[in-house]
Amino acid sequence: MGHWSLWRMRPAAIGYVLLVQALALALVVLVFVTGRRPDPDDLAHFAALAVTAGATIVVTSVSINLRRQIRRNPWTLHIVYLAAGILLLPPNLLALLLLGPALHGVLHDRPEPHRWLFTTAATTVATFAARLVMGWDEPVWTSPGFFVTGVVLLVVRSSVVAGGIRLRRPEATRTAVLGEPIDVLLGIVAASLGGLLAVAMQWAPFAALLAGPSMVLLDLASQLPQWRRSAQSDGKTGLANATHWDRLARLELMRARQRQQPVAVLLLDLDHFKRVNDEVGHVAGDTVLGRFAGMLRNNVRREDLAGRFGGEEFVVLLPGTECETAYRVADRIRAATTALSVPVRDIRGEQRELTGLTVSIGVAATGRFDYELTDLLLAADAAMLAAKAAGRNAVTVA
Ligand code: GH3
Ligand code: MG
Ligand code: MG
Repeated sequence: MGHWSLWRMRPAAIGYVLLVQALALALVVLVFVTGRRPDPDDLAHFAALAVTAGATIVVTSVSINLRRQIRRNPWTLHIVYLAAGILLLPPNLLALLLLGPALHGVLHDRPEPHRWLFTTAATTVATFAARLVMGWDEPVWTSPGFFVTGVVLLVVRSSVVAGGIRLRRPEATRTAVLGEPIDVLLGIVAASLGGLLAVAMQWAPFAALLAGPSMVLLDLASQLPQWRRSAQSDGKTGLANATHWDRLARLELMRARQRQQPVAVLLLDLDHFKRVNDEVGHVAGDTVLGRFAGMLRNNVRREDLAGRFGGEEFVVLLPGTECETAYRVADRIRAATTALSVPVRDIRGEQRELTGLTVSIGVAATGRFDYELTDLLLAADAAMLAAKAAGRNAVTVA
């Protein structure tokens, strides 16, 4: 516990995390002290939910561990049985369902267990808040009640977690704080599945097992953003990878051909990049690539398409852009590259500022080369090589 990164967080964040955990613990103690004895119906409902949840957690964990994947957003499947539990169980049995996330935490070798504890505490607080809305001792089933319960469960949980992330990293992006849109959608699907599950279990407790496959599917679906990201973007620079760029560029050229609008392509190759690696090492070289990509993104419009072509070569597609404008954009990028100062750690581990980077850029536009991507790239490549031959740190138009 002493080595947990929790203790390196700012005091406000540590205080907040401990407060949420204390609140969750107090709630659990309260329900065990004040709860009524469960009747046989309650026990049957609890057993059915616990068996389904346990089986789903084991199946998804084993499959993720076997495939050596890193799991993101593991919470969707927990929302399903917790929502059903809120609608069906007395609070003390509901508290026992929170062992599900704990089991999940044990089956995964989490690098930072305190985060798991925090999200489990946030889920606990949200679960009991939702229960309070539905009726603490005996839940009262009404249609609006179902709706409000689901909303409270999702909103309280994500607000408590978001508060923690904001305090820990004030600079965090909206997506880092609130999750991707698909996470919100999956949360809603999970809560409504939990509602349907509770209704089905009134009829027969072990109807819960029917929800198992959907829960596994929800867990798979919550991995989608990470698969999409790794399929489309380049890990070192965050730009579109070559395959994704190619696909988008062809689509853009097709559109432009129909509208008879000009398109320009820039091909950029960092000068003497091998020297950077030789001088400060490949790790620093990667840092430079990342910074260069960030600068590239800042120097083009939102609708322009920047990608990593490979190695230290980049491409940009500029829709609606004539050759002269593309030249000006390229020259601005060339100048911004010479102005880059990248803090890196060199091979000896020493901190230093890397300056003096230059780039050679080839420009080709549809005015001369029609709307064929391959032709445009060949022309831009030849122009880039001409810029190298002319002494580098230059822009050449094909
Ligand atoms: P030129 O001015 O002629 O382009 O010289 P250059 O050294 O940039 O050209 P060359 O194509 O010979 O070398 C490119 C170098 O880029 C070789 C390789 O070590 C480096 N490189 C390619 N991809 C990566 C990467 O992902 N990370 C790092 N650190 N270096 C890379
Ligand atoms: Mg190269
Ligand atoms: Mg190069």
